[in-house]
Amino acid sequence: MLKSQVIRCKISQGFAQLAKYLVKLGKGMGTSFPGYLYLKLGDYHCLRKLAQETTIGNIIFTGTNGKTTTTKMACMLLSKDTLTSCTFDSNTLNAIATGLLSPSELGLFEYGIRDTRNSFPDLVCELIDPIGVVYTTISREHTLVAGRKNPFEKYFKAKELLSAPMKRGIVVCNADDPRTAYIGRKKESDTLVTYYGLEADFLDKDPLTANISCPHCNIDLNYQKRYFNHRGLYNCKCGFSRPKPQVKISSITQKHQKWEIEIKGKTYNYPSQKNVSLNLVVEIPILGLHNLYNLLCAVATYLSFTPNPAKIKETILETCSQLDNFELPPGRFEIFQFKDKMIGMGQGDNGDALKANIQLFSGKEEVLVYLTPDEGEDLIFQDHLNVINSSTFKKIHVFPGRESVSAAEKYYNTLKESFEAEFHPISNRNIKQKINEIIDITTQSPSQFLVVSGCGPEHLLWDKLKSRFKS
Ligand SMILES: [Zn+2]
Repeated sequence: MLKSQVIRCKISQGFAQLAKYLVKLGKGMGTSFPGYLYLKLGDYHCLRKLAQETTIGNIIFTGTNGKTTTTKMACMLLSKDTLTSCTFDSNTLNAIATGLLSPSELGLFEYGIRDTRNSFPDLVCELIDPIGVVYTTISREHTLVAGRKNPFEKYFKAKELLSAPMKRGIVVCNADDPRTAYIGRKKESDTLVTYYGLEADFLDKDPLTANISCPHCNIDLNYQKRYFNHRGLYNCKCGFSRPKPQVKISSITQKHQKWEIEIKGKTYNYPSQKNVSLNLVVEIPILGLHNLYNLLCAVATYLSFTPNPAKIKETILETCSQLDNFELPPGRFEIFQFKDKMIGMGQGDNGDALKANIQLFSGKEEVLVYLTPDEGEDLIFQDHLNVINSSTFKKIHVFPGRESVSAAEKYYNTLKESFEAEFHPISNRNIKQKINEIIDITTQSPSQFLVVSGCGPEHLLWDKLKSRFKS
């Protein structure tokens, strides 16, 4: 690197550090700003150099659902063993750059990818040169991103590109998800791959999508077992099949108000360059199946990257004991006790997420306050409808979730064919009124089990709604 280049990087680092300090002082300036400034003043060479300063290396987390929760859980685990820098809830290189500005031994960064036109996953991988890319699960998500159609194939390809340039380290993949497993299978010739999965007695009676096509040859996969939507034990005529997980949950039993799970693992540890093994039984809060996958993914990541493999069992046990107070990401589903009622509230902007929310009520749900998708998001509505149809709701209150009130009315008309439904045409311009009305419905309803979920702005709606409810 040229001397002038080194100076340029140093100067941008100085300004960005100052910005980081200012962001801490001022509220709402956003955590991406210091990274933004760093990249504006410096350049990609500076970023490359900055990424190399992380002593052990950097890990990037991606997926459709669960990436924030998984990154947080992995950060809880790894922070007990080493100095980490973690960023959550971000979709930009700026946020990763902000994370890199804090000196650390391990960097853990969430990176959400929507398509290759809004993000550039392979470039991110080349710049950060991660020692790990972690995949949670890949489901069909938003059909429109920034007003453009976003077909699933392109979205899937974009996720795959994040680990494509890797030539060292470990890719962590969900064995039960044929899409992430496919990415793993392809990476096996370049890097090590750690697979995680369930080997338990769960069965999803109402999967969101009837058939899942093989990511290799496109014909329908044959499932021996489906745990949760497209996740399960599968194989294909072409020879593609579920890889054997190195880290797995081998039993789940409900005990009192807790789950007792058995985790078994034998996998390669990157810092020590040795295999580590684990066999433990631990109690955790009843998190729902989707969060169980998040926890398992975090444990698989932990086993692969902890620099202190001597005390893995203690660290996992300690972390699990802290899950009762686990802080959920903004917008995420939470259950509130109100007098004798249980009210679940939070975003469920795709079929998977809505299903995960409703699943927590295990067939007792009575009233749904549903915030609809937008114009042109019929596919999301179809997924939502499948989930709602398999539930026990007796009444549905329909609100527009995103922009279009007329689209919401169209979705309402479909819902009222099979449910007792009521339409509340309040647009996002009157978000305060919308929040008030939702609070009134939930608190005044005679029903005992209510769910408020669907689409809507994370901070403006879900966060505000939940904090109003807490107070
Ligand atoms: Zn196939």
